Amino acid sequence: NTFVEIDLGEALNQNIRRCKYVKPTPVQRHAIPISLAGRDLMACAQTGSGKTAAFCFPIISGIMRGQFARPRGVRTVYPLALILSPTRELSCQIHEEARKFSYQTGVKVVVAYGGAPINQQLRELERGVDILVATPGRLVDLLERARVSLQMIRYLALDEADRMLDMGFEPQIRKIVEQMDMPPQGLRQTMLFSATFPKEIQRLASDFLSNYIFLAV
Ligand code: AMP
Repeated sequence: NTFVEIDLGEALNQNIRRCKYVKPTPVQRHAIPISLAGRDLMACAQTGSGKTAAFCFPIISGIMRGQFARPRGVRTVYPLALILSPTRELSCQIHEEARKFSYQTGVKVVVAYGGAPINQQLRELERGVDILVATPGRLVDLLERARVSLQMIRYLALDEADRMLDMGFEPQIRKIVEQMDMPPQGLRQTMLFSATFPKEIQRLASDFLSNYIFLAV
């Protein structure tokens, strides 16, 4: 069982080889085909399990192959994918990995996190974004300033969802996901990753995912 057997697209497969990934980790082996098949997913995955690639590969592959018409805003950008994570550190790590995976695919990845000046992040966003990696608080700020619109989001990944709830981000997360439920509907594919599955996470899953597959590895 190797990555070449999974049809992710030539440019992405090349990047995977360049990263020296040969064998998918268990979460990757199961999550990637489920996502490529278009299903929503709730996955139990710890740090170090390879979950970053598990949600990045289907997103990059889908954007590479898709033909997505997007409005051209003057100040507003319309990402196709959103990856939410609890902290600046984790968002930067995801951004770094996603950039390696999307090298020469034409897919543009931008990161936005709180606790840093917003202006440089705005300039980066203005240059175009397909995949936005963000912390919930900073994203709400960008939405309120109408600098980011989530109306074209096709892929949503929530990473370390339990940690985001522990940090009190549930209201922000709900506000963010509500913005994706405007028409056109039924476009979004959602992946929820969490190390633990308390009632609150299961409630998020039933609110945000549709007809999802539960994966515990
Ligand atoms: P993560 O759980 O996403 O933080 O990944 C943990 C570490 O494993 C990171 O350093 C990844 O680059 C690495 N990694 C993820 N998937 C694979 C793979 N299939 N083969 C080799 N290394 C991997």
